[in-house]
Amino acid sequence: MQNGKIGVTTENIFPIIKKFLYSDHDIFLRELISNAVDATQKLKTLASIGEFKGELGDLTIMVKLDEKAKTLTISDHGIGMTAEEIDKYINQIAFSGAEEFLEKYKNQSIIGHFGLGFYSAFMVADKVEIITRSYQENSKTMEWSCDGSPEYTMQEAKKQRDRGTDIILHLSEDSLEFNDAARIREILKKHCSFLPVPIAFGKIKEWKDGKYVDTDKDDIINDVEPLWTKKPADITPEQYLEFYRKLYPMAEEPLFHIHLNIDYPFNLTGILYFPKIRNNFEIQKNKIQLYSNQVFVTDSVEGIVPEFLTLLHGVIDSPDIPLNVSRSYLQSDSNVKKISSYITRKVADRLNEIFKQERADYENKWDSLKIFIEYGIITDEKFAEKATDFVLLKNVDQKYFTLSEYATLVKEGQTDKNGNVIYLYATDKQAQYSFIAEAQERGYDVLEMDGQLDNHFISWFESKNQGTRFARVDADVIDKLIEKETKRKMALTTVQQDLLRPVFDAQLPKDDKMHFNVVFEPLDEKQQPVVITQNEFMRRMKDMAAMGGGG
Ligand code: ADP
Ligand code: MG
Repeated sequence: MQNGKIGVTTENIFPIIKKFLYSDHDIFLRELISNAVDATQKLKTLASIGEFKGELGDLTIMVKLDEKAKTLTISDHGIGMTAEEIDKYINQIAFSGAEEFLEKYKNQSIIGHFGLGFYSAFMVADKVEIITRSYQENSKTMEWSCDGSPEYTMQEAKKQRDRGTDIILHLSEDSLEFNDAARIREILKKHCSFLPVPIAFGKIKEWKDGKYVDTDKDDIINDVEPLWTKKPADITPEQYLEFYRKLYPMAEEPLFHIHLNIDYPFNLTGILYFPKIRNNFEIQKNKIQLYSNQVFVTDSVEGIVPEFLTLLHGVIDSPDIPLNVSRSYLQSDSNVKKISSYITRKVADRLNEIFKQERADYENKWDSLKIFIEYGIITDEKFAEKATDFVLLKNVDQKYFTLSEYATLVKEGQTDKNGNVIYLYATDKQAQYSFIAEAQERGYDVLEMDGQLDNHFISWFESKNQGTRFARVDADVIDKLIEKETKRKMALTTVQQDLLRPVFDAQLPKDDKMHFNVVFEPLDEKQQPVVITQNEFMRRMKDMAAMGGGG
């Protein structure tokens, strides 16, 4: 029997662990199960290189809750540990690392997904036992036990077990919320749904004689080969949809998916979906789940992935995203930053590809897709650069154009008096009907710009394209445009016009009067002798103010 003191200077570190990790105690299970998965994967590796010659057998990791005894046991058939390894990995290393870690992160707001590996168990247990036997020949089953003080006991077990490790948690009085099968299942589902080794919790139930009874089949809670780990060429569109439904059972079918599969300069896989949003008020951020080697890290990805991607759905998995760190650390990590800009590039490239290959489909979905693209353009310069190839403009006749296509469509001489090329647009097809008709009659095309972010998009576009301006069809600028083109015969003399003007002026809203112009027209086939136009600049300023900010 070996008794010892765990290699740490702090008198009793367990209260500190509890205090610092208060926000998300669930993490303990993820930590212990990742260790079991690691131990299993190591054994498989050893077998594949011929270092382990025995039978692998059933490698399922078993999670068992004994509600009477208030114990939770995690059992694996991985490599196990020898007495020396327990000494090295549990008694010494884990703890010295922990102390440093706590010192470093003491003053940061630590959010949930941060664990101390094995010692996270003490967040919920006042006593932890390890029963383990190494895969190595002639190894003995060892028992280790620690009751939350820095002292532990270690001895050879009376009863030998087969290869692998049991971790037994004696749940503490203030953690009895975990002495509940439904709660454990919920945590397993959240953190372990896609781990690469089967994990069983309880038995599959069967409806029999009016109630559910256990069958003898293990209930495997995870999918060991989630879709994002497979080759895109081997996946059918239906499988992509099925996976989406599994992740977001309540959501409408997505517009597109993008399968990320990057192996240089870092490893990253994932599937991103552009969700279909019923109406723009329902946009929810932070739906992407972040994984590290199929271990769930967080679903709060703000600051980790590019801003506009927080509107997307799906999963991102990268072993280069560190597991056991605080959120502020993740956000400042240079690797994570690199990953973030790389994803942006990949998403842009893929959108461009979809646009080129399936333009009709892309156009069909554009009205829903537009908000994401415009948001990306407004918030991310790199994305904007690429998106100029696949951002579309729609005209009032529901025809779609790329920016360069549209540039060739504007009529020659469609310029204002300063020589700016003018893009005409309507924000409300019904209300602006007569203006649209008038512009079209003169051979001008009119765009439809009625989206939530269109004003911001226009500002961005104008700042990038000096010499091109957007003007609403009912704005004064169109009038100058038209005036230039033809000298038509006015119906009213200048004197008559001056007499009439105050009559119209008096009808205009008082506070806004300054921004309206009354324009007399020639009486031609259209029979519209007077047009009231609005100053484009003033109107836009007002619209922006109403939206709560400029572009
Ligand atoms: P980490 O997993 O980051 O190495 P942990 O504190 O979680 O840190 O675990 C410390 C070490 O203890 C592991 O690296 C491993 O060597 C050993 N270990 C923990 N759990 C198991 C297990 N179930 N089977 C075999 N070894 C284990
Ligand atoms: Mg670990």
